[in-house]
Amino acid sequence: MGYPENPILVLVDLDATGRPASSTAALLGAASTIGRPVALIVGGAPDAAGELAALGAAVIMSEDADASLLTVPVVDALQRAYDAMRPDAVLISNSIAGRDVAGRFAVRAKLALSVDAVGVSRDEEGIVAHHSVYGGAYLVDSAPTFGAPVITVRQGAVEVRAAAVDDPVFAGAAYGGAPDEVAALTASALPAATVGAIEAVEQASSRPELRGATRVVSGGRGLASKEKFVLVEELADALGAAVGASRAAVDAGYIPQSHQVGQTGVSVSPQLYVALGISGAIQHRAGMQTSKTIVAINKDAEAPIFDVADFGVVGDLFTLVPQIIAALEARKK
Ligand code: FAD
Repeated sequence: MGYPENPILVLVDLDATGRPASSTAALLGAASTIGRPVALIVGGAPDAAGELAALGAAVIMSEDADASLLTVPVVDALQRAYDAMRPDAVLISNSIAGRDVAGRFAVRAKLALSVDAVGVSRDEEGIVAHHSVYGGAYLVDSAPTFGAPVITVRQGAVEVRAAAVDDPVFAGAAYGGAPDEVAALTASALPAATVGAIEAVEQASSRPELRGATRVVSGGRGLASKEKFVLVEELADALGAAVGASRAAVDAGYIPQSHQVGQTGVSVSPQLYVALGISGAIQHRAGMQTSKTIVAINKDAEAPIFDVADFGVVGDLFTLVPQIIAALEARKK
């Protein structure tokens, strides 16, 4: 079985249940703009073939992996797929796990690493990754001078979606098996951290996860207390949005650090980003400035958040937000 021309190897991020994560559609979409997406699932559901074909993966490869080891089995599988396919680029989600795999794989394969791309393209010399830097103030490009780039793609940043593929093919054949066989992974036996125990954490809410959410409502120091921060959560629920926060809100204990948006937190690129009581420091903007539509509510008309906002309301959030929630609820009736 051969590979398509200009293959782009896409490592599928898996969610907690072993299914392709929501970032997969954008990864395959990005890959489709520079070549033919070839998806690699490691240790996940091999029956995800149809799902991935619908998202545009031309060929599906699936590998078993030792779930007791962190990262290294995935890098082993990636190396094997890379050697078999010699793709033009390797795309990996810019998730915590994805960044770990990408860094190790790039070192092992001696390939250039481009991190946190918000888009990719192809010119006459090869693949180019696009990055939003300095709080979104500049767009810069990176491209390797040799070899295929390993690119991590920011979740939520790519809107392109690949056309569905009618006939996905398992690439077990590339590893010597029949086309529909799932290849067994030969571990590299390189040192790896071992998973001691896994404890399922009960998710306290049905809200979308911050990374990759299409809508985010964030609150800052202007919320004034943990009790009042509930207003951010109420607006998020009315909009079906994830909850974010500034570092000041996190440091003040209004909400756990996992919700922090910005330079030292999560980078998001949702369709809608609502900033409540956030001044818009450069470190905060670094994590949200590529959002498609930004709405800011702040009582200070000079707050820098208004420099990046598409819609700005100067006023007291404690007056405005309950009115917005009431209007949204009224529209649902
Ligand atoms: P403030 O700057 O205090 O702003 C609060 C805003 O609320 C003000 O604009 C005020 O007008 C408004 N407000 C007050 N009351 C109301 C009201 N009733 N109604 C409407 N508006 C009101 N910050 C991040 O967010 N993310 C990061 O990842 C991050 N990383 C950092 C890394 C480094 C190395 C450093 C040095 C700083 C970092 N920071 C980060 C901190 C950043 O510089 C700011 O201090 C922080 O973003 C400020 O948070 P804030 O906007 O909530 O608070």
